[in-house]
Amino acid sequence: MTRVFMAEQPPGPKARKLAAVKGMNDIFPPESAQWEWFEQQVRDIMGVYAYGSIRTPIVEHTQLFVKGTGETTDIVEKEMYSFEDRLNGEQLTLRPENTPGVVRAAIEHNLTYDGGKRLYYLGPMFRHERPQRGRYRQFYQLGTEAIGFAGPEMDAEVIVLASHLLQRLGLPGVRVELNSLGLAAERQQHRAALIAYFERHAGLLDADAQRRLHTNPLRILDTKNPAMQAMVDAAPQLLGFLGEASLKHFDTVKQLLNVSGVPWSVNPRAVRGLDYYSHTVFEFITDELGAQGTLCGGGRYDGLFELLGGKPTPAVGWGMGIERVLELVRVRGHAVASAVPDAYAIVPELAGFPVAFQTLRALRSAGVSVQMHAGAQEGMGSMKSQFKRADASGARFALVFGAGELAQGLVTVKSLRDGTGAQLTRVLGDVAAWAGTLQSQT
Ligand code: ATP
Ligand code: MG
Repeated sequence: MTRVFMAEQPPGPKARKLAAVKGMNDIFPPESAQWEWFEQQVRDIMGVYAYGSIRTPIVEHTQLFVKGTGETTDIVEKEMYSFEDRLNGEQLTLRPENTPGVVRAAIEHNLTYDGGKRLYYLGPMFRHERPQRGRYRQFYQLGTEAIGFAGPEMDAEVIVLASHLLQRLGLPGVRVELNSLGLAAERQQHRAALIAYFERHAGLLDADAQRRLHTNPLRILDTKNPAMQAMVDAAPQLLGFLGEASLKHFDTVKQLLNVSGVPWSVNPRAVRGLDYYSHTVFEFITDELGAQGTLCGGGRYDGLFELLGGKPTPAVGWGMGIERVLELVRVRGHAVASAVPDAYAIVPELAGFPVAFQTLRALRSAGVSVQMHAGAQEGMGSMKSQFKRADASGARFALVFGAGELAQGLVTVKSLRDGTGAQLTRVLGDVAAWAGTLQSQT
């Protein structure tokens, strides 16, 4: 049986205009050219670092994020778009991040059966946050996950990769802040010291902090409450609890960043308040975007595979906010040129289309980009108006498929950009021979 769902009728005679969901953006030309440029840079860099792409579903079981992102995180506590599957009652969620999905897929398909894998993804994530500059409800993340690698060299590799990408995008000088969370036992000792410290200062804790005191005291260090800053600044630091092996791991990361020309600083307060993190955590931060200055955040999550029911598998990765990165590109004034066609096809009369279509097909096969005048509905428009369109398209050449030329098996090629207005005729039957002359020499 088909069930029909009737939309609720809005009041008034006119239907309300449909608009995008708040905090979710449309991306279209010319801005979409900037996105494509970014995606191309991503493919290039992932190629030279030998990372392969992974695409996981946008919808996952809610439980994956409750476990994998963490019950006490902002994301799970208040930011998820969750719903019940209408047919079978399953609890589902639009992914707020992609690390749990990648780990689930890696476990499900035993991706590390023959060794570690270097993966990356790029796609939309969903979080119910207050929309503002650099913070949206649907936003895009690029992420890498290096799974099945325990050594500090892989922590360094993923950081170097992110830094290299930003450099390629023309964004040098984004600050890298590092910290080490050490091992579980070291964190336990630190946690006990931290709770004791916060209990001694219980009078200064706000409601959020009091709630987290025993569930997730590390998160209190993340507070943005100015009244708590001084107290939090003086709290015991995890770095002071790290043993020799953890310190060595951290030192190796720093050394490899140094030889790679990636400047860093240690921020002892950069914590990820989740137990499956260990050793290195890091953020890429800029002061040029106001409050939403974190471009990229990540770390080593050696405990996540086990938590999600897999074999113990060490892993390290990061997620990067694409809107923020592209906003920084704009703030720094780097224009990304939109693609313009090589040529614009002027077709004065309807009868010119069949030959124009054949010629354009051949030109495009040869890699020439051509925009065709589409004006049959308006009687094709005057030559003058067609040339106006040709100019506006940015093309360097106009191809004129006029009746006179076509009768002789020719097309006129007119130069639009070099100021000469030079024109010559080409033989239609030899398209392959002259196609190349329409392409820009780059
Ligand atoms: P923030 O502290 O800014 O909320 P986060 O710790 O929640 O960031 P992560 O989960 O580490 O962020 O995600 C990695 C990156 O994704 C962030 O550094 C940021 O660039 C981007 N990001 C996170 N949330 C949003 C959002 N709502 N809109 C746009 N970009 C976002
Ligand atoms: Mg957040």
